[in-house]
Amino acid sequence: MTERAIHSDLRQISRRKFLRESGSLIGAASILVLVAPRRVRGVEADSSQVGAIILLGPPGAGKSEQGRRLNERHSIPVISTGDLLRDQVKRGTQLGLQADPYMKAGKLVPDSLMNPILEERLSQPDCERGFILDGYPRALAQAESLDSLLKKKGFPRHVILLEVPTERLLKLLSGRRVCPRCRRSYNIYFQPPKNEGLCDDDGTQLVQRPDDTEEVIQRRLETYQNETQPAIDYYSAQGRLIRIDGAQTPEKVAAEIESKLGLQ
Ligand SMILES: [Zn+2]
Repeated sequence: MTERAIHSDLRQISRRKFLRESGSLIGAASILVLVAPRRVRGVEADSSQVGAIILLGPPGAGKSEQGRRLNERHSIPVISTGDLLRDQVKRGTQLGLQADPYMKAGKLVPDSLMNPILEERLSQPDCERGFILDGYPRALAQAESLDSLLKKKGFPRHVILLEVPTERLLKLLSGRRVCPRCRRSYNIYFQPPKNEGLCDDDGTQLVQRPDDTEEVIQRRLETYQNETQPAIDYYSAQGRLIRIDGAQTPEKVAAEIESKLGLQ
């Protein structure tokens, strides 16, 4: 076994371990970022290098679904800051305890809590070929600190914005159901499972996330407009924003992402 093959194996094992332990294929927030390092710790980057992908869009625009598809297609992890935070809360860490009230109120978690959690995650071996960022940045200051972090780590980035009209978003959000086992997401209006309330893949009872209730949805949309729009404007001013019609079928959105990123 060559050293390269061993590295590749370790990477696969590490990735599977992470996915198993965190189940973090689906995120809560608004942006997906794709980043790819050219060289990793002095090792020549292989041809399967993907880079860093940032997925942006309002809550309910399908970022998680597209993240899942990119993950399956390119074998790079989806980093969901929502899941990272929920994990901290679940484990009762200091950061988790501090972040919890913000999350319950549907507000942005302060950068002082989010940045160290994110930097640590992006330094793990499964991110070497690139990663998908789902749910971050959600505000201008986060976009700026993310830029610094990605620059420091040598990740080029591609920013995708999934655009969806507000009326449709409300249905998308209130109708969303998630499989707690495999994290696949459905929508009772647009993408129902074959058997009502059950996951197509594993038959698990689907659940509605606590932050998908009407009251929290309204607040999340307001937060998106007030906080995230400036981050979008920031990327747009840099000429780096790739706009995609998120009201298309998930298949069409996925195909457009692949083609616009030149990943095919
Ligand atoms: Zn499932």
